Amino acid sequence: SGRRSCVGILALQGNVREHVALLDELGVGAVAVRTPGDLAGVGALVIPGGESTTIRRQLEWSGLRAPLEARIAAGMPVLGTCAGLITMARTAPDGAPPTLGCLDVEVERNGWGRQVASFEAGVDWTPASGLDGSTPGTFIRAPRIITCGPQVEVLATVGGDEPVAVRQGRLLAATFHPELAGVAALHRMLVESITEGS
Ligand code: GLN
Repeated sequence: SGRRSCVGILALQGNVREHVALLDELGVGAVAVRTPGDLAGVGALVIPGGESTTIRRQLEWSGLRAPLEARIAAGMPVLGTCAGLITMARTAPDGAPPTLGCLDVEVERNGWGRQVASFEAGVDWTPASGLDGSTPGTFIRAPRIITCGPQVEVLATVGGDEPVAVRQGRLLAATFHPELAGVAALHRMLVESITEGS
């Protein structure tokens, strides 16, 4: 429905292809977003993993930061994975100012320790997610969510109580890479929350 039914993947830096493949599986068109003009045409945005400091710089250079903040304020759904979550987080991961600051979580970059570069873990979906059971999760130099604000729902955990996926209104974020394991749950929630006019 409408010209904004497709999902944009922020394509300044980081992995794009796997997100496009997942959205394709859901029957949803995906386009790369590199400019404010690209952003204007999409109904939702994925901010992929990569390097959060690079994403921050490139949001400035591309002129995307201000229009992106405006779209988020207007209710556009966003899904951030890994570095994308860091980009959305309210608190500065390492003392720097937050980038978008729209998601009320405190994060710690590389929170599993530098030795633990990457690992696979079973991600358990909570009742708030509307899903059952667990799916594989790929964590790559992943951030940890240290605290969640009162509006933040925990959608998935590892190890019993460690939050790894959260939702705040139309904002979704995960510390892991659902696109690498082909887990479409968060992308499906993103697409389902697209409404006209945001
Ligand atoms: N460690 C990266 C950062 O701090 C995030 C890694 C990732 O997105 N896979 O930005």
